[in-house]
Formats: sequence, C-alpha cells, structure tokens
Amino acid sequence: MSAYADLEGRLEQVRAEIRRAGGTDAVRIVAVTKTHPVAAVHAGVSAGLVEFAENYADELVPKAEQVLDQGLDVRWHYIGAIQRRRLRHICRYVSVIETVSREVELESLSDLGYEGELLVQVAPSGHPTGRNGADAEQVSVLVARGWELGLNVVGLMGMALPGSLQSTADYFAQVRRLGEDLHLREYSMGMSGDYQVGVAQGATMVRLGSALFGVRGDARATKEQ
Ligand SMILES: *Cc1c(COP(=O)(O)O)cnc(C)c1O
Repeated sequence: MSAYADLEGRLEQVRAEIRRAGGTDAVRIVAVTKTHPVAAVHAGVSAGLVEFAENYADELVPKAEQVLDQGLDVRWHYIGAIQRRRLRHICRYVSVIETVSREVELESLSDLGYEGELLVQVAPSGHPTGRNGADAEQVSVLVARGWELGLNVVGLMGMALPGSLQSTADYFAQVRRLGEDLHLREYSMGMSGDYQVGVAQGATMVRLGSALFGVRGDARATKEQ
C-alpha cells in the first residue's frame, strides 16, 4: 500500500477546515513535497492536486525532471531562500516563485527572462534580518521595481514566526493590507500549523506539507528555510 494512501482523506479534512475558516474552494492548496519522494507527487496528482512546492533547488530539480519524464502535468512553486547561482535552474521548472525579498533577485530574474509569477515574501516584524523576507516598509518598492522590470509580480507571501494565534493573525492581516494597497491578487499565507489563520485573514493559497503527507523524517525539514 502506498505511503500516501490517506492523502485523499487528509485533503478532504483540509478543505473542510478551509471552509470553516471562511475560505472557499478557490483557495489554492500548494502541496509541499520537500523531503518526500516523487511518489508524493503521484499521490497528490491522483488526489486532484496540481500545485506543488519545494524549498531547495537541489531537491526541486531532480524531482521536477522525474515528474516531467513521467508525463505528469504539475505547476511547481519555489518557496525556499533564493540562491542566485541556483536561480537559472529554478526558473526552468517553476511557475511561481514565492520568496523574492531583494532587489538583486528581481534583477537576476529579469536577466534570466523569467516569465512566471512572483510573490514578495514579507518578513514578520521582529524577524532576524536576513534571508526570510523583505521588511514591510520595502515591499512597495520591491513590487514597483519588479513591475518596472516587466516581471509578473502578483502577490505577497507570509511565513509566521512561531507565536500566538493572535500574533500570527495580526501578521497575516498586515500582509494582506500591504498587498491590497498595491492591488495585488495573491496571498500565500499559512502552513500546516496555521493555515486556518491564514485563510481567515484572506489567503488565496496555503502551503501544506505535513498536513497532507505526514510528518517528515528528514532532519533538514526542521532547519529554517
Ligand atoms: C516546509 C514549508 C512549508 C510547509 O510546512 P508544513 O508545516 O509541513 O506544512 C510551507 N512553507 C514553507 C516556506 C516551507 O519551507
């Protein structure tokens, strides 16, 4: 029996939770397959999923290659920190990059002729500065720069710090407000532990790993992106 035999049931539960949180069936479920083999993608496709995500280029590329070889039609999202020297490879396979946080990344994407969708990742306040998102004050500048370069910036991504439900809700609400001021249409907010909060605050997509595929065994999974 497949290791992912209960995926359909889990997906049903997730959809019910999304409705309970005030979302509709239009909320996109992005299945995070990191640390899982290609069998997870197969199970996802069988269950009706079309969007999948990885957060390491080294894991995305071989998996996306296998999926292509096997003739599966999926849309990949990249949700990890952007390493510019890996960007060329990432661009070849993905339809959505959710983790833009610096102007140089936009410039590289433009140089590479990337035509997929882009989201700017917004760091929660109090986040150590670095690779996990742009400060809220920089978001409008980044979005404008992306548009100026002719890139398809369509939304914002939020990844909450561990904390209270209230602080997570406040952060997601801030992300949504920032995006609405810019007339953006996509909001990727919520993972297995907080997607109901994301949906309640207006997420249009949620990124789910363990809620769909079970707990990851790989130590890398606990490392920050
Ligand atoms: C791993 C990961 C997820 C999914 O995490 P789960 O808690 O397993 O749902 C979502 N977003 C990002 C950026 C991730 O790295």
